[in-house]
Order: sequence, then structure tokens, then C-alpha cells
Amino acid sequence: MVKKKSKNARKERTKAKRIAHSLPAQEDKHELKISAIEEGTVIDHIPTDATFKVVEILHLGQHNGIVSIATNLQSRKIGRKGIVKVAQKNLTQEEVNKIAVVAPDATVNIIKNFHVREKIKVKSPDVVDNVIKCSNPACITNNEQLNTKFYVVKKDPLKVKCHYCERVMGKEDIGIV
Ligand SMILES: [Zn+2]
Repeated sequence: MVKKKSKNARKERTKAKRIAHSLPAQEDKHELKISAIEEGTVIDHIPTDATFKVVEILHLGQHNGIVSIATNLQSRKIGRKGIVKVAQKNLTQEEVNKIAVVAPDATVNIIKNFHVREKIKVKSPDVVDNVIKCSNPACITNNEQLNTKFYVVKKDPLKVKCHYCERVMGKEDIGIV
């Protein structure tokens, strides 16, 4: 009985060692918290509170490739940040614009063969179609099957205005469709 136990313990030790060995030695410490991808997109410098909004905007719940989400990471640039890595996905310009609504300082990295091929700085759009949910319960978009449409009236801090009911909403009221 005692013998069996120690055998198991030894097995576990070996296993843990093997995992540690498989980590790339020269990789940035920061990046170890979230696995590298071969092909796809990395969205970096997302404000922590917007990380899951980015996930929603890109409908990653339905994505078939690997999705890694990290939040509350330390960032010299923005304090705490989130990173979303999506394997086998290229973002459309429309998707990049949508991300800018909730993460105006985000960078989008296109990954090919484990390396960053292109770095895109997001840019706030002037009109936001079907991303933001209107906070006015009486708004037609909350009562009929209709895509929402908002005009960006101020970029930083974000202020948007509903095309239909003209409600003006700040960053804290913004929900995702
Ligand atoms: Zn509205």
C-alpha cells in the first residue's frame, strides 16, 4: 500500500517536470500566462473591464478555433489590461472598428507562423452599427427586430447617441447587442 502511493507520487512529479520543459525558454514572461498561437489574431491592450465585451463583439463563444482570454494583467501603458487570442481567425475592418468602441487603445496583431506579421491600431468609428444595445427600454430597437445604430458624439470618454430615440449614452451604459 505504502509502496503504491510513493509510485504514484513519483509519476506525478515526472509529469509536472515534462510540462515545464515544454515551455519555450525565451518567451516573454508576460506571454506565458496565455498560450501562443500559430495562426490568428491577438487583441492586446484591452481595458480590463472591456475584455469580455471584446469576446462578445467577436462572437467567440461560437468560434471553433482555440480562444485564450486573459484579464487583469499588468500593463505599463494602461494599468491593468486584457488580452484575447483567437486561433484561425482574421478580423474584418468592421470587427476592428467595433473593438475600438470598447477598447480605444487596443492593438490588433495578425499572427502567422507564431510571429506578429502586422500590428493594427484600432480607430474609433463615427457610426456604430449593431454593436451597442440602447439603454432606453422604450426604444424601437428594444421592441422590434431592428439593428441598432449609434453615432459617436465624443470619442474619449466615449459618448454615443442612438439614431432612433436619440438617447445619449456614456461608456458605463454601453451594453453589447
Ligand atoms: Zn434608442
